[in-house]
Amino acid sequence: MTYQVLARKWRPNTFDEVVGQDYVVKALKGALDLEKLPHAFIFSGTRGTGKTTLARILAKAINCSNSKKKSQPCRKCDSCLSIENGSAIDFQEVDAASRRGVEETKELLDSVPYLPTSSPFKIYLLDEIHMLSKESFNSLLKTLEEPPEHVVFLFATTEIDKVPPTVLSRCVQFNLSAMKVDNIKNQLQLIFDEEKIKYDDNSLIKLSSLARGSMRDALTLSEKVISFSEGKITEKKVEELMGLPSSELIQSILKSIIGRDSKKLIENIEEVKINFYDPEQILIDLLSLIQEVALSQFDEKADLSDLSIEPQNLQLIYDLGISNLEYFKLSPKPESLLTMTFLKMIAFLPESSKKKSLNTNKDETDFSWPEDFSNLDLTKLTAQFMSHASMIEYHDSEMHFGINQERLNIITKNQIKEVEDALSILLKKKLKVSFKPSDLTETPFEFEKIRSQKESKQAEDDLKKDSSLNEMLEKFDGKIKKVSKI
Ligand SMILES: [Zn+2]
Repeated sequence: MTYQVLARKWRPNTFDEVVGQDYVVKALKGALDLEKLPHAFIFSGTRGTGKTTLARILAKAINCSNSKKKSQPCRKCDSCLSIENGSAIDFQEVDAASRRGVEETKELLDSVPYLPTSSPFKIYLLDEIHMLSKESFNSLLKTLEEPPEHVVFLFATTEIDKVPPTVLSRCVQFNLSAMKVDNIKNQLQLIFDEEKIKYDDNSLIKLSSLARGSMRDALTLSEKVISFSEGKITEKKVEELMGLPSSELIQSILKSIIGRDSKKLIENIEEVKINFYDPEQILIDLLSLIQEVALSQFDEKADLSDLSIEPQNLQLIYDLGISNLEYFKLSPKPESLLTMTFLKMIAFLPESSKKKSLNTNKDETDFSWPEDFSNLDLTKLTAQFMSHASMIEYHDSEMHFGINQERLNIITKNQIKEVEDALSILLKKKLKVSFKPSDLTETPFEFEKIRSQKESKQAEDDLKKDSSLNEMLEKFDGKIKKVSKI
C-alpha cells in the first residue's frame, strides 16, 4: 500500500467524522433533508478549517445513490467513490484563484445547461471564490439568478467580505470557526493512537496550539515531527524541530522580569538572538505563560513557589505585553522591541514588588531612562543628540542606547566620552556607553512632548473651570485656542 500523508489519510469522509464544526454540520444535515435543496452554498473561514472537505462531503451526500438518509453518503456507490478519488464527471472542482478570468468562468458556465451524466445533480465546487474577477462574478451571477434544476454550486472562501453581496444573497452561508486547541488535541490523540505513534501529553498541546485553529496544519506539523522523531514525540523534540524556544527559557524570562534580574534577562535575550528565535513568538509564549500563572493563582494546589507575584502586577505586565504585541508588525528591529517590552514590564512593576526581589545595586535601579535625562550635565549639542536616544540595555557598567541611523552617523567620539562622563558622575561609577541604530521612540524628546501635552491639557482644563474667564468668553463669544507654557 502506498504511503498517504496524515492530513490526507485522516481527512473526514462523512459528516460524523468532521471535528469541531458541530453547528455547521447540524445545519448542513438539516439542509439536506429539505424537500427542495438550495442551489448554492458558500463556506467561509480561515485556512485549514475544513471548507472544501465539508463541501466534498456535501457533494457526496447530494449525489449518493445508495444512502437511506440523505445526510449519510454511503461511500460505496459509483458517485461517492468517484468524488473521493477525484474522477467524478458530475462533480467539478475549480480553484478560482488560478482561473479568475471571465473567459475561464464563461467556459465553466457553458457546461451548466447540460444534464448530469450519471448522477441526480451536476455539482460545481469553486474554491477561493473571492479571487474571481468582477466580470467573472457578473457572469456567475446571471447563472445564480436562474440556475437550472439539476445544478448545485458550492463555494469556499477565506475572505467572505470580498464576495459581492449580490452573489452572497443567493447562497446559503456557513461560517466555519477556527478549531479550538482542545478539539485539535483530542483529534491528534485519536490519530496518534490509531497510527501507533508514541507521544507525551505536552507535545500534543504544543502541536495543537502551533496549528492556530487548523487541523490540517496540526497534521502537517505532526508529520514533520514524526519523521524526525525516533520512537516517541516529546515536547522537547517539537520545540527543537520547529525552532521554538524551550519552555524553560520562557519561564526564566518571566522569573527575570518578576525578580527584576536584569543580568539574567540580558542572558535570556542573548539566547533568543543566538538561536534566531522569533521575538514576536517569544512574547506570545510569555503571555501564554503569564495567563497560565494567573489562572493557577486561583488553584491552591499549584506550586508557585518561585513565581510569586501579586495578581494585579501579573495583570499589569500582561497588559504591557499585549499592547506592545501589535508593534511587531511595524518594527524594523523585533529584537529591540522585545527587549524594550521586557524593560517596560520591569519599569512599570510597582515599587513594592521591585523591593521584594531587588538584587541589583541601588544606583542602578534608581536610574531610569528617559526620565533621568534631565539630570545629566551635557553641552547643548550633546544634550540635543541624547534627547533622541532610547535605552536598549543597561547592565553592570555598560549602557546601550538606540538612536536613528542619521543621527548615529554624526555623533563624535568626544560626544560619546561626554555622555559616559555625565552618566558616570550621576551613577557614581565608571560607565561605558555604546550606540546602535534603532527607531524606538522611548526617548527624552518624546517623553518631554507627552509631558508637555499633559501639562497643557491640565492648564486648559483648569482655565475652563475659571468662572470669570468663562464669563468673559461668553461675553465676547470667544474660545480657548491653545494653552502653552510661558
Ligand atoms: Zn453513495
